[in-house]
Amino acid sequence: MRILVIEDEAAIADFVQRGLQAEGHAVRCAADGIVGERAALDDEVDLVVLDVMLPGQDGFSVLRAIRQAKPALPVIMLSARAGVEDRVAGLDHGATDYVTKPFSFDELAARVRAHLRTPLQRDATTLEAAGIRLNLLSRKIVRDGVEVHLSAKEFDLLAYFLRHPDQALSRQQILGAVWNYDFDPGTNVVEVYIRYLRRKLALPDRPAPIETIRSVGYRLNTS
Ligand code: CA
Repeated sequence: MRILVIEDEAAIADFVQRGLQAEGHAVRCAADGIVGERAALDDEVDLVVLDVMLPGQDGFSVLRAIRQAKPALPVIMLSARAGVEDRVAGLDHGATDYVTKPFSFDELAARVRAHLRTPLQRDATTLEAAGIRLNLLSRKIVRDGVEVHLSAKEFDLLAYFLRHPDQALSRQQILGAVWNYDFDPGTNVVEVYIRYLRRKLALPDRPAPIETIRSVGYRLNTS
């Protein structure tokens, strides 16, 4: 498999590259965010190992560009920052997995193996949960056989719920992931869009499966 490692610390890049090569992969390294993004978008790559702190542009920006162009490409993020918030931010932005530095090669290799063989990753252009299927490329959405038409923001909001089924998502998490706000703008934009989304997803005999969790946020229920 072809693996791209985007990491500016030469010692770590070298250690990861040698380890993955020993496992039989073809490995390329990029030492900054700009070169790395170009390689991820232009080259044939099966998996990306992406550091968060990079010169040029940071790993989250690279991840965003990859997700737009190649929604199915597995991306494992590396970070020295062990904070839960970073981990959540990485996963919210569409990282497939997250490894905190310092890590052992075995830990990374196990995740690489898991994500290269997950059949789901092969078809990760489709998100599916709670009877709703959303295609990230065609942007077609179907709920229990009925096609649903959404605006661009409603689509992003639904995709975010489908990536996190059965998880309580706070208003702040939703604002960050869907509207790119890292602060609370003090509007009720989330509530308004949840209302739009529920109305459009509702079927005559079934309401939308998005539940309000008091003083927390919202959850997409799959059962
Ligand atoms: Ca770094």
